[in-house]
Amino acid sequence: MPHDGHDFTEPPPDPALRVKALESLLVEKGLIDPAAMDVLIDTYEHKVGPRNGARVVARAWLDEGFNTAIKEDCSAVIADAFGFQGRQGEHIVAVENTSGVHNVVVCTLCSCYPWTVLGLPPVWYKSAPYRSRVVQDPRGVLAEFGTTIAEDTEIRVWDSTSEMRYLVIPERPAGTDGWTEEQLADIVTRNSMVGVEVIAEPTQ
Ligand code: FE
Repeated sequence: MPHDGHDFTEPPPDPALRVKALESLLVEKGLIDPAAMDVLIDTYEHKVGPRNGARVVARAWLDEGFNTAIKEDCSAVIADAFGFQGRQGEHIVAVENTSGVHNVVVCTLCSCYPWTVLGLPPVWYKSAPYRSRVVQDPRGVLAEFGTTIAEDTEIRVWDSTSEMRYLVIPERPAGTDGWTEEQLADIVTRNSMVGVEVIAEPTQ
């Protein structure tokens, strides 16, 4: 491969073009079916996304039995309860934030992520700085997201793999007593389910 002097931690000059070239090559060699690719991409770009995860979190806040069950076998329970299943959704582990423990998720090797509940990973999640720094200095990285975690709260960093992906159950904010599952799901952000954000108390 020609070396053009680019630092390889930077994305290639035109990633879209390279992806297209790679895709054409795979199609040409009969390794992929372009129609199947389109369905797959459309599904994870438009149909599956963090709203799925938000529904799981809202139910966990309201239903103690469900909350316990997803911490034991998240993938099976959410497939059964919501029909959330598919690629990159096997072996999801739910980790719950409490007043004493805050959980953060990373994939230090690449970009493993629970697609079935969060959709496709954001660019920062895949970036080299996030992947290396959140392990060494989680509190500092969280601060860059505008998230302050109390000094006496333990921060646990979970390293995802193709075998194990994590969904953070954020803490339910005060001021949401009596809310419906739908209302609660509306305030659950993607970043809170990766653990880089806490959910703010709603303002009137
Ligand atoms: Fe990965």
